[in-house]
Amino acid sequence: MNRAVVCIVGRPNVGKSTLFNRIVGKRIAITEDTPGVTRDRIYAEGEWLGKYFTVIDTGGLEPDSEEIIMTNIRRQVEIAIDTADVILFVVDGLQGLNPTDKEIGNILRRSGKKVVLACNKIDTPKTPQEIYEFYELGLGEPIAVSAEQGLGIGDLLDEIVKNFPDDIDTDYDDDIIKVSFIGKPNVGKSSLINKILGEDRVIVTDIPGTTRDAIDTYFNY
Ligand code: GDP
Ligand code: MG
Repeated sequence: MNRAVVCIVGRPNVGKSTLFNRIVGKRIAITEDTPGVTRDRIYAEGEWLGKYFTVIDTGGLEPDSEEIIMTNIRRQVEIAIDTADVILFVVDGLQGLNPTDKEIGNILRRSGKKVVLACNKIDTPKTPQEIYEFYELGLGEPIAVSAEQGLGIGDLLDEIVKNFPDDIDTDYDDDIIKVSFIGKPNVGKSSLINKILGEDRVIVTDIPGTTRDAIDTYFNY
């Protein structure tokens, strides 16, 4: 069984975790005013119109506070490119287009991955003129959403689900047995999982603590 994976990327504080919570319908990720504070679970199951998929908040993968923001963001985008079927790129509609958004946009465009662009913090039903500047990213139409108010989420999910690959399984399956791999950093959890799965879905890194593998992977044996 192959679940569709949706990865949420974007600068700190644009509302990734709030949107994640909105999509998965529970308050799983932690939302705070300080950039880079998401540390809780970073993945969950989402569902839209009977289609099930995995959502990953890459913003929750920020381990080292001394690391500069752009390095972190690049790493998150890299993870998203490696693991996602659809990348949900979130920008801040209140702040407007930012040089970092452009940089992320360039990497995503070059990746050839399916990208859905969400312009968050549009807290009124009427779409303001400002969101049109995000067309400059060259990633198609920015979809106006308010993660906080719950506006535009349906349109956003329509667009995400529409971009799933044809061979993906979106049915609900309650027979799944959940297996967790736990252990100290760098003991080889990710490598072991990769061996079992026979694919490089889990990303292995030799920097202790930079766990990028808290990801649901479905496996038949
Ligand atoms: P992240 O760093 O990208 O995960 O951003 P968070 O989800 O932690 O949100 C950062 C800040 O933006 C928090 O103070 C949120 O309350 C706020 N925020 C998130 N979504 C919205 C929204 O739709 N409208 C407004 N006005 N603020 C929002
Ligand atoms: Mg966050």
